[in-house]
This record gives sequence, structure tokens and C-alpha cells, in this order.
Amino acid sequence: MKKVAIAVIGAGASGLMAAISAAQILAKEKRPGQVLVLEAGKKPGRKLLATGNGRCNLTNQQAGDWLHYHGDREQAKSVLQACPPALLRRRFQEMGLWTREESEGRVYPRGEQAAAVVQLLLMQGRRWQIEILCESPVESLRQNGRDWVLTCPGQEPVLASRVILACGSPAAPHLGGSSAGLALLQTAGIDINGQVQPFRPGLVPVRVSGQRMTALKGMRCKGDVSLLADGEGIARESGEIQFTEEALSGICLFQLSHLVSEWETMGTVNGKRKKALTLSVDLLPDIKEEMILSYLMRRCRTYPKEPAEELLAGVMNLRVGQEVVRSVLGKEAAQPVGNRKLPLPEIAHRCKHFCFTVEGTASWKQAQVACGGLRLAQAHVPSMELKRAPGLYATGEIWNINGDCGGFNLHWAFATGWLAGEAAARSLCPRRKKERN
Ligand SMILES: Cc1cc2nc3c(=O)[nH]c(=O)nc-3n(C[C@H](O)[C@H](O)[C@H](O)COP(=O)(O)OP(=O)(O)OC[C@H]3O[C@@H](n4cnc5c(N)ncnc54)[C@H](O)[C@@H]3O)c2cc1C
Repeated sequence: MKKVAIAVIGAGASGLMAAISAAQILAKEKRPGQVLVLEAGKKPGRKLLATGNGRCNLTNQQAGDWLHYHGDREQAKSVLQACPPALLRRRFQEMGLWTREESEGRVYPRGEQAAAVVQLLLMQGRRWQIEILCESPVESLRQNGRDWVLTCPGQEPVLASRVILACGSPAAPHLGGSSAGLALLQTAGIDINGQVQPFRPGLVPVRVSGQRMTALKGMRCKGDVSLLADGEGIARESGEIQFTEEALSGICLFQLSHLVSEWETMGTVNGKRKKALTLSVDLLPDIKEEMILSYLMRRCRTYPKEPAEELLAGVMNLRVGQEVVRSVLGKEAAQPVGNRKLPLPEIAHRCKHFCFTVEGTASWKQAQVACGGLRLAQAHVPSMELKRAPGLYATGEIWNINGDCGGFNLHWAFATGWLAGEAAARSLCPRRKKERN
């Protein structure tokens, strides 16, 4: 049996960070080469490489503010206090990764490459003699006295004094996403019944119904998007909206998607039962409805021979404008304006309230994160050690915490990874444990 001080399951954002912080402490205690990372995929950091469109939005200047998170966010406060963004940036700086702040507090590596983040994490790993075994999916975890035994198919079992579970969530399965973390807790006989919020897709496009989507497919425009639950506005975001065949996408939709996935899975929004959700898009947020109306009246006088569906040409995306008019006039939109008495107030109103019936979220494949997961009350925070399983720590997305778009999720992954690695290593070094106390 292979023996190590600390085994980390998963070489993603939180697992690599956990391994580094643990190995650094152990090396200073003259215990180098005692951290092993087991990764199911062919390479470490696969999801990390895809983050921020390949640029890796690794934290946010606002990431210390718990209001940017959802789920058990009140319990997450001590993690965010123990590892605020400035500290995380300093840790990266110490590793040799320079970072730069962009709009809305988003922080990226200076070289704008996610590959550089992975590279630096792996260089740190080599520096602190961390062993990373790829193509090693851990299939079972069980307690053996005060130690833990991990098994991977076809490999020698591993005996570890401490285990850090950093398996992530089912989001983006093509990049290694899975629910393996929860399954491993079950193999270890840890009772998590009633302690898990069902995983559901987060930061994901919102699926809507209606034939209109075929016409809008591929279009982009800017606007304000409101989410209505049973007709009542519950959240609003601004930004670019992208139309696909069956969904509305873009960062502003991602930000609303955690509410949609709660409704789709549990029938509630913010804990309150709701029957139907609607997205209402204000396509001209900076223009009052009366102004749009007087503009439409002028347009009818100027271009009476043009089809009514071109009334909004020049005002917004051409195809989107046509669909707005068609949503009011139907087939008659293709007829010239002529002397008809068109329902112009209704068209003006539709520009400010272009509505879509919500069906749910897009699939896990398109999700950047998972909402739901293990309740944070199950952990000692900020060490991330499981209350029911001393010596077992969990990091990253397995927890019932998901952040807004903009670097908050990687912040959570890196912060919990760092803190768990540190706590696990310190618990094995009596002198350092005392120092911490
Ligand atoms: C396309 C995309 C873009 C994103 N962009 C951003 C961004 O710019 N900023 C941001 O803050 N967040 C972003 N995110 C979210 C962010 O990537 C995640 O929140 C973060 O990676 C979660 O870290 P983690 O360590 O919990 O899990 P992961 O990074 O998913 O790592 C888990 C690892 O565990 C491995 N594993 C799973 N099961 C086992 C097993 N049984 N044995 C061994 N290994 C196992 C997996 O293969 C994987 O490598 C993005 C996500 C996606 C999909």
C-alpha cells in the first residue's frame, strides 16, 4: 500500500491549491514529498484552462463580500474573511503569477492566459515535490483507524493520514465535472442524508419556449433583463443578451440562472413556491416608452411603403426589431405600413417588455458551476474539515455555495483549497498546530 501524509482527490482549482498549501507547510517541517494528488482526467486543471474564455478570471476585488454568493453564504463568511481577494492575489504573486484588475473588479493573470495559471500551479507543485497521478479516478474512500484508504481501479491502494476531497461538481462534464465527491462520502459511510441540496446547473443559459427563438437564433443585443415570478419582478440584470435556438444566454442571464434552476428543481424561488417564470427584456433601457411611441409615429409617416416589420430598423438589432413588431402584428407585420391604424403604443410597450416564458436552464454541459451541494453546516469553517469525519476535508464546488459571474467561483475554490490544505498539514505538525492556536 502506498503511504502519504495527505491525499488530494481532484487536480482542479481547489485541489491544486490545497496540495500546494499543504506541501509547503510539510516541506518546512522537513516532510517533503508527502502530498499526493489523484486526478481522474488525463491532465490536471482541465476546467481551469477553460475559465474566463481561456483568460481565467481568477478572483474579484469584491470576492470578500458574501452577498456575491448564493446557498449557505452566511456560513461562508469566515472563509472569505480568512482568504480575501488581496491575500489570494498576494499568494499568486508569491508563486510568480502577476495579476491585473479589469472592469467590475474582475482579476485576471497579466498574461491573460488560463494556461499560465495552471502552469504556475504545476511549477509550485514540482517545487514542493507534490506527486500528481492522472487517470486515477478514486472510486472508494474508507476510514482505517485514524487514517484513510483510497482505491483507484487497477492501482495500488493509498493510505493517507488526511484526505482533501476536491472533486468539484457535475458542471461541464466534458471538462471533468461529476458528482463523484458526494458518492465518495457515501462509500466512506458518512451520513449526508438531508445534508445535501440537490446539484443543479448554475451560470448557465436560460431555456425559453416559443417559435420566436428560431428567428432570433444567433442574434445579440444589449438590454435589461428582468426575471418575473408569477408576474412579480424578482431580479434584474443588464448586459449583452445572446439568442440561441432555445435559450437566452450572456452574463446577465447567467446571473439570473440560479433562481431559474431553483424553480425548475424545487418549484420555489428564494424559498417561495412559484408557478411560472417569465423573462422580460427591455431592449431600449435608456429610452422612455413615450419617446419610442413618438418615434414610431414619425417612422410611419416617413416610410409608409415599407413593411411594418421594419419600423424598428436602425433602432435596435434588425432581426430583433422585426420580431418585436411581429410579436404584436403577427403575419400582418410583412404588409406595408400604408394608412393602417397600427397598434403603435403596443409596439412601443413591447420594446420595453419583450417577454419569454421560462422553461428551465440549459444542460450541465453549458453550466459553468453547480448550485446546491453539501450543506456548509457540515464543515468546520474555515478549515473545511468535515464535522462528521475528522481528517477529511472538502473544497470548492462540492459545497452548497455558488458565486456570481466574475471570478467569485474560482475565488471560493482557491480560498477553500488554500485553507483546507493549510489546516490538514498543520494538524499533522504539532508545533505548527500550536502556532496557529
Ligand atoms: C467554461 C467555464 C468557464 C469558467 N470560468 C470561470 C471564471 O472565469 N471565473 C470563475 O471564478 N469561475 C469560472 N468557472 C467556474 C470554475 O471553473 C469552478 O468553480 C472551479 O473550477 C471549481 O473548482 P473545483 O476545484 O471545485 O472543481 P474542478 O476545477 O472542477 O476540479 C475537480 C477535479 O476533480 C477531478 N475528479 C472528479 N472526480 C474525481 C475522482 N473520483 N477521482 C479523482 N479526480 C476526480 C475532476 O476531473 C477535476 O479535475 C468556469 C467554469 C467553466 C465550466
